Amino acid sequence: MKTAAFLGLGAMGVPMAAALARRAAETGGRVLVWNRHADKAQAHAAEYGTQAAALEDMGQAGVIFSCLPTSADVDEVIGQLEGHLNPGTVWVDCTSGHPDAAQSQRARLLTRGVRLLDAPVSGGVSGAVAATLTVMLGGPADEVEAVRGELAFAGKAVHVGDTGAGFAVKAVNNALLAVNLWAAGEGLAALGRGGVDLGAALTVINASSGRSNATEHLIPARVLTRAFPPTFGLGLLAKDIGIALDVVGGVRGSAPVLAQVAALTRAAAQMIGPDEDHTALLKLVEQMNAQEIK
Ligand code: NDP
Repeated sequence: MKTAAFLGLGAMGVPMAAALARRAAETGGRVLVWNRHADKAQAHAAEYGTQAAALEDMGQAGVIFSCLPTSADVDEVIGQLEGHLNPGTVWVDCTSGHPDAAQSQRARLLTRGVRLLDAPVSGGVSGAVAATLTVMLGGPADEVEAVRGELAFAGKAVHVGDTGAGFAVKAVNNALLAVNLWAAGEGLAALGRGGVDLGAALTVINASSGRSNATEHLIPARVLTRAFPPTFGLGLLAKDIGIALDVVGGVRGSAPVLAQVAALTRAAAQMIGPDEDHTALLKLVEQMNAQEIK
């Protein structure tokens, strides 16, 4: 019987592990789940047919998935679990992590015969629920191909390069998310101050060249409605654009716009709150303009 394990039942982990469980039910496998606060693992088992277990039991799995806030959290869990790992296990880290950490974690786990791939995801909670996430994988091609069939939560899985490349691509993607959100917010705040109807403005922008996921989906559904549903934390977005700047620095690149938006996103996470939804970034734009975007 094939055994997979999932570590970290947060907003993303719950539906991702549920997708693994649906696949396991079809193929005669099983999915072990672990969460720092164990009650969430027990609730997951009751709802989705996974098996809640102690962290050290996760070492029985052939494939271990993790989805934690940061690479530092993954380091902590590796430290607790490494003595219980078996050679041949593959560790697929779906955290939006740091490329440098992927290198050091892979080297650390290889001493135990365990191969780590960085495999962050995009598509949000709704994509995880629908099992249509995009996975960006970093690592040796043969190892990526070997694990591709296990990614039951994926609609698309792309091998983007060597270890760390998955995390780098994810960080740049989310930096673009922050830039698009922030820039759209600035433009809409100005239009609002001038008395333009923002729904009408977005209808035009979304049929024109200024459109983005922020203008098409995030702002109409989350900002104009004032709902700001907390599915992806502002603190996590600030973390991601910070990693993107490290990626830029690592290749001695030049990215002044990303640096500016990174500083603004960090400020917003501190002022508005790291646990607020990432679209609450625009509350800082609103404060700067004394204008609600609604
Ligand atoms: P959440 O904050 O919802 O969940 C975090 C999870 O990590 C919880 O299960 C929490 O456990 C656990 N955790 C936190 N710190 C530790 C630690 N030190 N040791 C062990 N477990 C820990 O996060 P998300 O699910 O939103 O995000 C997870 C990752 O996925 C992040 O890297 C994020 O950037 C990325 N991501 C998020 C998306 C989203 O839309 N939310 C989309 C794409 C990527 P506990 O319950 O015990 O607190």
